[in-house]
Amino acid sequence: MTDPRRRLPAVDALLADPDVAALAATGPRSLVVRAVRETIDAARANGGSAPPEGWSAAIRSRVRRLAALSLGPVINATGVVLHTNLGRAPLAQPAIAALARVGAGYANLEYDLARGARGSRHGLCRDLLVELTGAADAIVLNNAAGAVLVALSALARGGEAIVSRGELVEIGGAFRIPDIMARSGATLVEVGTTNRTHLKDYETALTPASKLLLKVHQSNFQVTGFTAQVPAQEIAALGRARGVTSLYDLGSGLLVDLAPWGLTGEPTVPQALASGMDAVTFSGDKLLGGPQAGILLGTRAAIEACRNDPLARAVRADKLTLAALEATLALYRDPERALAEIPVLRMLTESVAEIRRRGEALQRGVGAGAELVEGESEVGGGSFPGAKLKSWVVRLTPGPRPLTPDTLAARLRAGDPPIVARIGDDRVLLDPRTIFPDQVETVARAVRSALDG
Ligand SMILES: *Cc1c(COP(=O)(O)O)cnc(C)c1O
Repeated sequence: MTDPRRRLPAVDALLADPDVAALAATGPRSLVVRAVRETIDAARANGGSAPPEGWSAAIRSRVRRLAALSLGPVINATGVVLHTNLGRAPLAQPAIAALARVGAGYANLEYDLARGARGSRHGLCRDLLVELTGAADAIVLNNAAGAVLVALSALARGGEAIVSRGELVEIGGAFRIPDIMARSGATLVEVGTTNRTHLKDYETALTPASKLLLKVHQSNFQVTGFTAQVPAQEIAALGRARGVTSLYDLGSGLLVDLAPWGLTGEPTVPQALASGMDAVTFSGDKLLGGPQAGILLGTRAAIEACRNDPLARAVRADKLTLAALEATLALYRDPERALAEIPVLRMLTESVAEIRRRGEALQRGVGAGAELVEGESEVGGGSFPGAKLKSWVVRLTPGPRPLTPDTLAARLRAGDPPIVARIGDDRVLLDPRTIFPDQVETVARAVRSALDG
């Protein structure tokens, strides 16, 4: 018997098909050729059988898929507020307006309008960060991993940096403190043990080659039981006494205390600075609720060294980031306004009653197959690890028809816009905490058609 894969049509033969030729005549030819190739490849991978809907229909739908932009909005129904895979923080309206305004034309990114001469992009968010946090100086870079790399390079290159073994963490996406340390040109000196490190461990590790004491916030995990880590304040004091710089990789960048909403254990940026550490790094798109960015705050000397490090140029922030970050930070001048308008803070501090109301609207919108039950949401994004937020979730029960939770979730993801749900206890769960009020109707409609389809 001949292998059916031998009988697959050639690219040119399919391009000559009248329907396909019409596509190529009206649309971009390179796109149609790619769609033809990929349709043939898919058929080959499928054992060599022609697409069930026919070649030209399969090619047409592939052209449509390929023509659409690959990055697009999704609805987050997981209840994980800072979902790294879903782009972390949604931006506040003023931040969106600022990046649209700046992105659409030229901007004074590196231009001093008063002097009519070259300026510095590093000045843009600096004064606002100083005003809000009390830091002596500030610099904004591409992301927090980049900020840590720059700080290690500027403050510890060619010398030793001392870190607790309990803080040699992996943040995710292959960002490991020992690796980043090696790239920065600093020599890692590990002290203490995984569960316990004492001030004495840092003291005995200090040598004339010591340049930096590093503290890394344990942002994405909890160590429980017989544990001890040295508070930032004591590390900072030791560094000052011995003439060694101190750096605090804080991670999340919380600017307002969320303890009144039951979220404790995550140090705020002002607290981290008040500990006396020379420099503090954190993300723009975690609890701060802005765009991806790495923010470095600290003493004049420490920040000046970071600003002058060649790596700072390699991981500099772009104009869209700076525009969105400045507009987000400006909201913090009025903390009430920050809590109301920055989506991450609004979602984390929303009352359970309000979430329940949105859940009821969603449940009513779906009708049969949906029930509202008590549940929990997560902060996510390596912030407040282990914290559970009381919530109400819509639990979907596919009627008499066999529809596995995976199939139902896949149908929701295939929609436009895609809806990402979570699965718990073998059911699809929709958490209204991360579903925006103006998305409830869209989600209800999509769920109805996924349950019926
Ligand atoms: C998240 C995190 C980082 C990395 O931040 P990015 O902005 O994602 O680069 C670094 N350190 C800590 C402690 C973190 O929590």
